[in-house]
Amino acid sequence: MPGTLLRYDPALMTDVVIIGGGPAGSTAATLLARKGFSVTLLERERFPRFQVGESLLPYNNDLFDRLGVTVPLAQGTFTPKYGAGFVTADGALGYTFRFRENLPEAYHSSFQVKRAEFDELLLRNAAANGVDVREETAVTAVDLADPKRATVTTSNGESIEARFVVDASGHGAFLGNRNGDKDDVEELKKVAVFAHFKNVPRPEGRDAGNTIIVVLRDAWFWLIPVSADTMSVGLVVSRDHLRGCGLTPEELLRRTIDGAPYLAERMKDAEQVTQVYVRRDFSFMVKRRTGKNFAMIGDAAGFLDPIFSTGVFMAMKSADIAADAIEQRLRNGSTRLLRRYDRSFQSAMDKYFRFIANFYSREFLEVFLQPKTDYGLIPVITGILAGNIFERQSRAKLALFFFFVRVQKMFGGIAPPIAWQELPGPASM
Ligand SMILES: Cc1cc2nc3c(=O)[nH]c(=O)nc-3n(C[C@H](O)[C@H](O)[C@H](O)COP(=O)(O)OP(=O)(O)OC[C@H]3O[C@@H](n4cnc5c(N)ncnc54)[C@H](O)[C@@H]3O)c2cc1C
Repeated sequence: MPGTLLRYDPALMTDVVIIGGGPAGSTAATLLARKGFSVTLLERERFPRFQVGESLLPYNNDLFDRLGVTVPLAQGTFTPKYGAGFVTADGALGYTFRFRENLPEAYHSSFQVKRAEFDELLLRNAAANGVDVREETAVTAVDLADPKRATVTTSNGESIEARFVVDASGHGAFLGNRNGDKDDVEELKKVAVFAHFKNVPRPEGRDAGNTIIVVLRDAWFWLIPVSADTMSVGLVVSRDHLRGCGLTPEELLRRTIDGAPYLAERMKDAEQVTQVYVRRDFSFMVKRRTGKNFAMIGDAAGFLDPIFSTGVFMAMKSADIAADAIEQRLRNGSTRLLRRYDRSFQSAMDKYFRFIANFYSREFLEVFLQPKTDYGLIPVITGILAGNIFERQSRAKLALFFFFVRVQKMFGGIAPPIAWQELPGPASM
């Protein structure tokens, strides 16, 4: 039942305009087009374009199936991922959470991807599903004053009328900024410094595709094998540390690698094959994510620290939930599911926030890196690391895990202390 408007001119009118063609935008576009709506997706760049965020989560697999991209993903250049390892900077202590050992079969693996290729696959899939995809077309203004329709203006001077606008503009958070609803997350003022390298050895067997997180005091590294010969290596530190350490981002990256024995050993023959990229101020939340004629999804609705690789999963899952809500709004005028979408997004972010904020404390890491095997906590934590955040979880086990963390903070005794390596800064120069 395509085209539910009375007057329909595909050049100027559409049911839904989507701002941005990243994973959130292309997922929402595909699902809404399949529901029979006319969808116009406006993307500022021409794909493929570089993007950070290369480690995917197994709980995205159901959605990959529904979108019809599982086969191309498996046949592409992407690396199968079977788990996530965490290790101290001296390499003395580590723990690997393996999906196969702890989760149902459907969630035994995921992928590490070069985002340029992954995002293009999803965007072309949206076009193949009937979405009018317009690249090199930036949205410059949105008028939402009439709750029954919106007017979207583009950098090409077009004015498009739509019944509903989806903001999937990512970190730029087009509507959140415009509405003054975007708040930084005080506890998470971080900077990421990263590049791609060749000649970085990997663990043996299935663990070869794992993400490895190397922990330092108030900072961490990711190692993500994004293809057969390329490792994405990134450092996340506080914004204040980068400002105050007197080093350029390139110097900070190099010196931290050289000073962390686990990394220094693995990176001794590494060849840097991209520039060093810097991303700042990526953690924020938007207060009001839905209205009668708009919804924000993916990063445009909010993003927290990348430590648990949740961004693409949240982008696509929020698109999925929002697509059902938008269908209801367009078919019978109800905003009930939109409000429910808003609550479920907030609830997922609250759960992640608890893990992320704690991750920067030594005691959390002591309990996390030496998990107790006799309370059934490991499958629950592995589930969180795999993206099991919207489904029913064992609340009691999570509560027990955070109880152990609290006891460790107050009295110790739950787990032995770990080495807590400092970052290079003025004192070490
Ligand atoms: C340092 C770092 C590391 C990360 N690591 C991971 C990871 O390992 N795994 C993971 O899952 N996530 C990771 N993330 C998060 C991940 O990058 C994002 O969550 C994900 O890209 C969000 O997808 P999206 O579709 O919401 O936004 P995006 O991927 O940012 O896509 C938004 C699109 O909108 C377009 N756009 C913006 N403004 C306009 C406009 N005005 N008009 C038209 N188009 C516009 C942009 O060009 C862009 O293509 C990381 C993030 C950071 C900062």
